[in-house]
Amino acid sequence: MGLNYIDDADFQEKKVIARFDFNVPLKEGKILDTTRIDAALPTIKKILEGGATHLILMSHLGRPKGRRNNDLSLLPVAEYLAEQLNEDVLLTESALDRGIKTIIKLKKNKILLLENLRFHPEEEAGCKEFAKSLSDYADLYVNDAFGTAHRKHASTYHINTYFKNKSYGGYLLKNEISALNNVVDRPKSPFVAIVGGAKVSDKIKIIDRLLSSVESLIIGGAMAYPFLKAKGHGIGTSLCSEEDVKLAKKILKQSFGMKILLPLDHITSLEFAGSPIVYNDVNIPDDQMGLDIGPKSVEYFKTKIQSAKTILWNGPMGLFEYDEFSKGTFDIANALAESNAYTLVGGGDSVSAINKTGLSEKMSHVSTGGGASLEFIENGTLPGIDALKFGINL
Ligand code: AMP
Repeated sequence: MGLNYIDDADFQEKKVIARFDFNVPLKEGKILDTTRIDAALPTIKKILEGGATHLILMSHLGRPKGRRNNDLSLLPVAEYLAEQLNEDVLLTESALDRGIKTIIKLKKNKILLLENLRFHPEEEAGCKEFAKSLSDYADLYVNDAFGTAHRKHASTYHINTYFKNKSYGGYLLKNEISALNNVVDRPKSPFVAIVGGAKVSDKIKIIDRLLSSVESLIIGGAMAYPFLKAKGHGIGTSLCSEEDVKLAKKILKQSFGMKILLPLDHITSLEFAGSPIVYNDVNIPDDQMGLDIGPKSVEYFKTKIQSAKTILWNGPMGLFEYDEFSKGTFDIANALAESNAYTLVGGGDSVSAINKTGLSEKMSHVSTGGGASLEFIENGTLPGIDALKFGINL
């Protein structure tokens, strides 16, 4: 059985409960960036235009740790949605409000937004009774929360038990899966992956997974130092743990280890975020730390990028938050923007790096789900997606 998407659903006269990722940044009750809500609108409109009698929206926001926290109320989201949809959106007191069923019975208030699911510890604990209570509100279930599809939470995973053959993926989920499958399932060759950022142990699985399918794996950022050290190079005081050096040695020993490309030079400094030094050698002196890739490395990596047909990028090439150490990351972003390859940027910090360059429009796909996109690349699927496909057995 495959995954059913909302285009296959009949919403006519149905009550629909739908999980989104409205986890937007807030400041003093104002939404700073509405991207995540905007990304949900096509799915919401499709359900409403399909003739649903009620649409019950649900999401988490921030980390309230299982307790009510008025600063993390979804009220600003309800107000923004009402504006965008030109319809009333009723925010409930809590996800388990006694009045919800009555409201639905009375056929009043077509669109309801359940208050922050994570005010209830049962959500993250994956409590099946909580999932059952949510499922009782509706006839059909839609999941469009790609960013939380790697979590086995009540509203993303366990709820599927109560909607056998009545659960659907939304448009955002569909777009993410099809974009990620371009690199996971059928990457056009040559396939080049670029991995940066800070910790090898966090990305070890993704490196392992990618090495079998890529032509070249470019490693930059602080990720590069354990590999350089493992090869016997000097890395000075650069960020690097012994545990990561061990992992790097193991990876380099495999036959696929040949595919790894490392920086040839560096932008260093005597201290963290201090004055930059263009250090024209692979070996970093003892008193300096590497904080960005150097110009020779950029040219070297660019030759691989220019001949690629598929490019996956995860993790910045240096301490890009500081202008002095952002050039390597920006140069690589530019090389991707100029390439004709299928370019996918995924995973937390690479997305903020690409947004900082203003080049996100030039990428084929920028994934909205940090941890979720990494896990999808590692495993080819996610628990929330599997639950939609196959249901789950509790
Ligand atoms: P990650 O979350 O693993 O993608 O790591 C991203 C973080 O790694 C960013 O905050 C970068 O500033 C940081 N980073 C990248 N390269 C370096 C480096 N050479 N030294 C220190 N931090 C770095």
